[in-house]
Amino acid sequence: AANKETRGFQTEAKQLLHLMIHSLYSNKEIFLRELVSNASDAVDKLRFEALSDDSLFEGDSDLRVRVSFDKDAGTLTIADNGIGMSRDEVIENLGTIAKSGTAQFLEKLTGDQKKDAHLIGQFGVGFYSSFIVAKEVEVFTRRAGLDKSQGVHWQCTGEAEFTVEDVELENRGTRIVLHLKDEQLDFADNWRLRSIIKKYSDHISIPVEMQKVDYDVSDDESEKKADAAAPEWEAINSATALWTRSRSDVSDEEYKEFYKHVSHDHSDPLDWSHNRVEGKLDYTSLLYVPARAPFDMYNRDAARGLKLYVQRTFIMDDAEQFLPLYLRFIKGVVDSNDLSLNVSREILQKEANIDAMRSALTKRVLDMLSKMAKNDAEKYATFWKEFGQVLKEGPAEDFANREKIAKLLRFATTHNNTAEQNQSLEDYVARMKPEQKHIYYVAAENFNTAKSSPHLEVFRKKGIEVLLLSDRVDEWLMGHLMDFDGKSFQDVGKGALDLGDLDTEEEKKAQEESAKAHADLIDRVKKALDAHVSEVRVTHRLTESPACLVVGEHDMGAQMRRLLEQAGQ
Ligand code: ADP
Ligand code: MG
Repeated sequence: AANKETRGFQTEAKQLLHLMIHSLYSNKEIFLRELVSNASDAVDKLRFEALSDDSLFEGDSDLRVRVSFDKDAGTLTIADNGIGMSRDEVIENLGTIAKSGTAQFLEKLTGDQKKDAHLIGQFGVGFYSSFIVAKEVEVFTRRAGLDKSQGVHWQCTGEAEFTVEDVELENRGTRIVLHLKDEQLDFADNWRLRSIIKKYSDHISIPVEMQKVDYDVSDDESEKKADAAAPEWEAINSATALWTRSRSDVSDEEYKEFYKHVSHDHSDPLDWSHNRVEGKLDYTSLLYVPARAPFDMYNRDAARGLKLYVQRTFIMDDAEQFLPLYLRFIKGVVDSNDLSLNVSREILQKEANIDAMRSALTKRVLDMLSKMAKNDAEKYATFWKEFGQVLKEGPAEDFANREKIAKLLRFATTHNNTAEQNQSLEDYVARMKPEQKHIYYVAAENFNTAKSSPHLEVFRKKGIEVLLLSDRVDEWLMGHLMDFDGKSFQDVGKGALDLGDLDTEEEKKAQEESAKAHADLIDRVKKALDAHVSEVRVTHRLTESPACLVVGEHDMGAQMRRLLEQAGQ
């Protein structure tokens, strides 16, 4: 064969491959879901490219995936007539992991197979899952539009290397041949394959076909029959885009499987919201809240956004324009009937309709979260643990929804004094003293420092609740939250503490007198510390500690200062 070469996998790919083979043995059949999912993506991509060049169909626009097997040879084949791959694309896509942050992700692996299997789920399982059941994988592929002679044959036995060579391929698209491991031969079975496809790939919008069998004869005879004549194929799945079906027709299982397809996540979603909008705007959305944060949530280059369809034609992955950054963890699909099929990322940025869709989808997500918080506290606690930090970016980014987001926030407070963030601002307000005007908080670099801050002494004495903030994003959050339910937020570590009506007349008088009585002392301390502080005053905020530092009312908080110092400013 022409141009055969042997290549090594990129280090990350090698590690991932190894992990796949050794960690995911408990649910082997998922390899088929992954390969069918890839085939479906490849068909989507072909349809999209054919919008501007329909010669790419090469006279064959019946797009489908076919699954077949050969019991004697111990092989299983998954073939699609999608976009296919060029030689360079094969090397790139099957030999390297392009996701940013992969190296950091792999560093987190422990060698404990159970834990690692859990982690790999966050990363996405993908093509390498073939090696869970196969001792050798061959890929035959030709990119749509390329000459027959530019087909590629990729071959690998799941170790450090693979080979690629040029082959002639009549049909465009990709055919993957799995040579099953001896102990996995029972996957080469008609009914087994049918039930797996039905279970995992029913929602795939193109037909997933297998050869027809005569139901009256035994399995073995039917295979012979099929071999003899030109095979007849039939679709195993329902082959309608799931989001176009009505909610009542879609089972929870189907929603969950569809989530895995669009998100490339391996675990079930936490919740979803499926809606058809008609009227001025006409679109369908299906939005999912994942159960776990992706490994690259804080990576600026990480893929985010929804899968965009226009009139059921796939247009692009990771369309970022439909949701704000603080909701970047949301996965799903939006299918518009208004946008043009020619829509591009550049156009999306300017299109007026997109802004309207973005606010509607944002509201949809916030409503879904509010409902979750109200109806299922345990689920919401899971959500908060995974995504609370990101949601805290919300008030700064999305002023209009500030109040709605504020209701979704959860805090650790002096009410239960534990690090767990499980108190809402509504809870806090309900517990406020009748004379209390502000919502008080203390911010520190970690929970214990916050909890034992001397600034809290007077609050604890008076039984006034204080939010205990220790996340990096907290001061940023407080800088944009301003108020809640008409009560402004006050940092107990800033400026002169005005407890207003919370102090009795006697206490106020005593404070004034004490300030007068200590005027001399204050003067002396001021002189001694002149270069370091802007003011010294008598305080009533301490009950046990003799002195504490506070920052000015309008100065940057201590946590923010540290952040900027770390950033070299
Ligand atoms: P993912 O689907 O998350 O991108 P995979 O490991 O499943 O990751 O696949 C890696 C890449 O290989 C895909 O992104 C795609 O570019 C390519 N690929 C896999 N299967 C096919 C296929 N059937 N047709 C065309 N390209 C494919
Ligand atoms: Mg995939």
